[in-house]
Amino acid sequence: MALVEREEALGGTCLNHGCIPTKALLHAAHLLRVVRSAGKIGITASGVELDWERLQRWKDGVVRRLSQGVRFLCERNGVEIIGGIARFAGANRVRVEGADLELEADAVVVATGSVPAELRGLEFDGERVISSREALSLPRRPGRLLIVGGGYVGMELGTFFASVGTEVVVVELLERILPGIDPELVSHLARALPPGLDVRTGSRVIGLERVRGGIVARLRGPDGGEFRVEAELALITVGRRPNTAGLGLEGLGVARDERGFIRVNERFETSVPGVYAVGDVAPGPMLAHKAHWEGKAVAEAICGRPPGERPPVPAVAFTSPEVATVGLSEPEARERGYGVVIGRFPFTASGRALTLDDTRGLVKVVAEKRSRRILGVGIVGPRASELIGQASLALHRGMTLEEFGGAIRPHPTLSEALGEAAEVPLGGAIHVL
Ligand SMILES: Cc1cc2nc3c(=O)[nH]c(=O)nc-3n(C[C@H](O)[C@H](O)[C@H](O)COP(=O)(O)OP(=O)(O)OC[C@H]3O[C@@H](n4cnc5c(N)ncnc54)[C@H](O)[C@@H]3O)c2cc1C
Repeated sequence: MALVEREEALGGTCLNHGCIPTKALLHAAHLLRVVRSAGKIGITASGVELDWERLQRWKDGVVRRLSQGVRFLCERNGVEIIGGIARFAGANRVRVEGADLELEADAVVVATGSVPAELRGLEFDGERVISSREALSLPRRPGRLLIVGGGYVGMELGTFFASVGTEVVVVELLERILPGIDPELVSHLARALPPGLDVRTGSRVIGLERVRGGIVARLRGPDGGEFRVEAELALITVGRRPNTAGLGLEGLGVARDERGFIRVNERFETSVPGVYAVGDVAPGPMLAHKAHWEGKAVAEAICGRPPGERPPVPAVAFTSPEVATVGLSEPEARERGYGVVIGRFPFTASGRALTLDDTRGLVKVVAEKRSRRILGVGIVGPRASELIGQASLALHRGMTLEEFGGAIRPHPTLSEALGEAAEVPLGGAIHVL
C-alpha cells in the first residue's frame, strides 16, 4: 500500500492547518480569559501577558509531534510514503510528480481534502488578504482584524484573536452567525461572545483596498447603509471547496456533483470502478471525524466487507462558549414533519457549571413525540465539545428519552445536564421546574 502526499508533514489539513492548531491556540485563549477573570473567586494575577512567539512554538510542537506519530503509525503498518503530487494517468494508474514515479493499484482512494473558497475581489495574497492557514501562523498578533464569514472557522479564529487582545470585526452575509445551527443555540452564543469580537450580520463586503499597513474594506449593512472597516488583515473564511483541481478526474470520467464533490456510492466507489473518494472531497460535512470514519469504511469496502450505515456526524464550534450538535435541530425536525417534544436544561441549574464559574448556555434535546426516540441534541456551554459524544452514542444506538435520561451520570458533572434535559419531556427532571 502506498500513500502519496504533496506536503512534507503528514496529517493533512486537520492536523497541520486546521483542527489541531486552532484548538491549541483556543486553549491558550481560554487560559488567558480564565486567569484574567478569576478575581471574583480570589485569584489575582498581575503581569499576565501573552508571548506570541512562544505560543506559536508550542502550537507548532503539538502539531509536529502528532504528525510524526502519523508517520510512525504508517511506517509500522507497512504503508509506503511517497512525497509528491499525485495525478491520474489511468483508472488504476497514478503518476507522482516530484518523485518521477508511476504507481499501479487495484484500488485508488482520492482523499485530497478541500481548499479555502475565494471571494471575487477579495482574492488571497497571503499577506493582507489571508486564509485560515496563514492566520494560524502569523508572525505577530494583529491589532485589528477583519474576518469575512461567520461560520465555524471564522468564529473560532475570531474568538481566539479577540481573546488575545486583537480588535476583531466578523462580517457575516446571513442574518446569523454559524448558519445551519439551531438559532436558539446561536442566540446563546451571540450573547456571550468575548469582548473585542464585533459581529456584523446581514452585511457584505462591497470593496476592499490594500493600503499601507493594512486594508480598508467598504461594507453594506442590513439596512443598506455603508460602513468602513480598517484593519491590518482581512481573513476570508467563507467556506471550503473540494480539492479536485489537477487530479486528472475529467479525463477519467469521474462524476462530480453540482458543488464539485466527487460522487460516490455506499462503498465510496466513484463512477469509475476501482477509484474511490472519501473525506472533504466526497459529499457530506467537511469534518475530520467524518473523514476518519470514511477512511476506515473505504478500507473495509475495498477488502470486500458489506457497507454499514454512517452514524450521525456531530459538529462542534470551539467558540466561547462552545456549541455542539448532533442529529436534527428542532427546526430541521419540524421541517421534516416530525411531531417533536423538546427538553431544555440550562447550565445555570447545574452545580458543576457553577463550580466552574461558567453557567452560560443550555442542553437541548429534540425527540419524536410518539416514539420518544431522540432525533437530535444541541449544546451550548462549557465543554460542549466533550459532552456531545454521549449524545452521538444515543443517536447511533437509536435511544429513547427514557434510555438516555435513565443512565446514572457522576455528580457533580456537566454530563448530568444531558440526562436532565432528556427527562424534562418525561416530567422526570428534578433540577428544573
Ligand atoms: C481552520 C480549520 C479548522 C478546522 N477545525 C476542525 C475541527 O475542529 N474539527 C473537525 O472535525 N474538522 C475541522 N476542520 C476540517 C478538517 O480539517 C477537514 O474536514 C479534514 O482535514 C478533512 O480530511 P481529508 O483527509 O478529507 O483532507 P485533508 O486533511 O485536507 O487531507 C488532504 C491531503 O491531501 C494532500 N493532497 C491534496 N492533493 C494532493 C495531490 N494531488 N497529491 C498529493 N497529495 C495531495 C494534501 O496536502 C493534504 O495533506 C477544520 C478545517 C480548518 C481549515
